[in-house]
Amino acid sequence: MFDSLSDRLSATFDRLRGRGALAETDVREAMREVRIALLEADVALPVVRAFVDKATEAAVGQNVLKSVTPGQQVVKIVHDALIEMLGSEASDLMLDVTPPAIIMMVGLQGSGKTTTTAKIAKRLKERGAKKVLMASLDVNRPAAQEQLAVLGGQTDVQTLPIVAGQTPVEIARRALQAAKLQGYDVLMLDTAGRLHVDQGLMDEMKAVADIASPTEILLVVDALTGQDAVNVAKSFTDQVPLTGVVLTRMDGDARAGAALSMRAVTGRPIKFIGTGEKLDGLEQFHPERVAGRILG
Ligand code: GDP
Repeated sequence: MFDSLSDRLSATFDRLRGRGALAETDVREAMREVRIALLEADVALPVVRAFVDKATEAAVGQNVLKSVTPGQQVVKIVHDALIEMLGSEASDLMLDVTPPAIIMMVGLQGSGKTTTTAKIAKRLKERGAKKVLMASLDVNRPAAQEQLAVLGGQTDVQTLPIVAGQTPVEIARRALQAAKLQGYDVLMLDTAGRLHVDQGLMDEMKAVADIASPTEILLVVDALTGQDAVNVAKSFTDQVPLTGVVLTRMDGDARAGAALSMRAVTGRPIKFIGTGEKLDGLEQFHPERVAGRILG
């Protein structure tokens, strides 16, 4: 049977029982378990290295507490270091601006962007009775705008009427005007995805961001794609001022490692996780739950 990381760490360190302090050689030895577990969880190698160094530094020289076993003590140190790396606290949307607050959704095609747009709109409506307008700027994928309208119908959230032949920037302008004139609290802009990161996509996003000055720019990435998701996040971070990340498909057997790398690579908080195809499958991201999942 596959032991969890906390079991393996406990076993390694409990051999050290009875010694006064955690010695560097022992800690380094045990951190190999952490390293392997993180690589198995699909955490990017540079992130693993940085993490192991940090956790080692925190553990070496610590006096072994009387109340817990050395194993438990190290599990706690690793747990705390994981949480610190994941971003310490759950962070919510920052929508405290003169309305309308604008949330721009970006990401590759198939990442779950449109579904997540509707999930967030539904959540905002339910939580604060906010008046939310959604607009799809995706003029590339056939029926993308209709897909958002259908989701709007299911969640009772208004969508911007579709006008054929407009460019994304023109739709964004029209959406902004409608949101202002009609007194919406929040405007959600669902931008077009692509199969891969390309310059056309980045230019389009920048043009939309320029005219919309979004309050939040959320990157939606598919957690199941692991390291690829992290590489995608890196490309986006370099080009647009992201304010947060949404990791979708965390309901599957997505290895939690993507979450750990994501925070380290983008420097942006993970705000939500997608936990299902249904429109209530959205949860605020809780670092301690993911740390628990990695430790097992
Ligand atoms: P987009 O191309 O990025 O707009 O992607 P869509 O929103 O159309 O989503 C693509 C597929 O992923 C759809 O079948 C969604 O139902 C599904 N999906 C989105 N988010 C999640 C999630 O968190 N969990 C699961 N299991 N499926 C999801």
